[in-house]
Amino acid sequence: MDDFSGIAAWTLLLCHRREGTGLMELRSKITCPACGRQETETMPTDACQFFYDCKGCGTVLRPHPGDCCVFCSFGDVPCPPVQEVRLPGAAAGPCCATS
Ligand SMILES: [Zn+2]
Repeated sequence: MDDFSGIAAWTLLLCHRREGTGLMELRSKITCPACGRQETETMPTDACQFFYDCKGCGTVLRPHPGDCCVFCSFGDVPCPPVQEVRLPGAAAGPCCATS
């Protein structure tokens, strides 16, 4: 039945949440402002990455003022701590760069 696949997907979602991974997207595509090269990187879940060396031109990227990490400034997905704050009902914790 068609209903079965929907139930299975929901169960999978619950399992993921129970494991603590939530709905986090841990891969972010960084775009270098200097040369335009795009690279998909896996983000650390327990730290913010402040510097990123572009694999194309070697430029060291730093976060924009107000952003906590290079993924928030140059990636298409913000870093895990920021995603956590944006999730409804999640325990809101300040991003690690602000303290
Ligand atoms: Zn570059």
